[in-house]
Amino acid sequence: MSNECIFCRIVAGTVPAAKVYEDPDVVAFMDINPVAKGHTLVVPKAHSDPITETPDAVLAKVIAVVRKVARAHFQALKAEGVSVAQANGRAAGQEVPHLHFHVIPRVEGSGRQWTPGKYDSPAEMNQYATRIRDVLC
Ligand code: AMP
Ligand code: ZN
Repeated sequence: MSNECIFCRIVAGTVPAAKVYEDPDVVAFMDINPVAKGHTLVVPKAHSDPITETPDAVLAKVIAVVRKVARAHFQALKAEGVSVAQANGRAAGQEVPHLHFHVIPRVEGSGRQWTPGKYDSPAEMNQYATRIRDVLC
């Protein structure tokens, strides 16, 4: 746990986030600048970075939650497709150096578009979080 790391602080609960899933090893929460509404981040609770240094057992737990979230996007958000992405290093566009997978609901035509957007309000973000959370198991 690093006090400097924004995702460690979200895991610890000292920075607020709209969490949709939590277990002893993994947390998923809404991205505050969504590429599409519903954009979810999945992170290990234990600080880890980059993917090449992440233990297999941690990665396995994280990717299992990525799949749960993708299923939730299909089911709860009626996504027509779901993108999963993960960056390592600034050259790859990584901004937060704590392992995270982006899970992004897609509709026909939104394809590989990657322009960070905004929710109309915090309430709207929480509504998306609730819809996803309600079908996660
Ligand atoms: P990356 O460029 O792969 O490191 O992605 C980092 C992501 O974290 C971006 O999509 C940001 O919008 C998102 N992000 C940064 N700070 C927060 C935060 N406090 N809560 C939720 N998402 C965040
Ligand atoms: Zn961290």
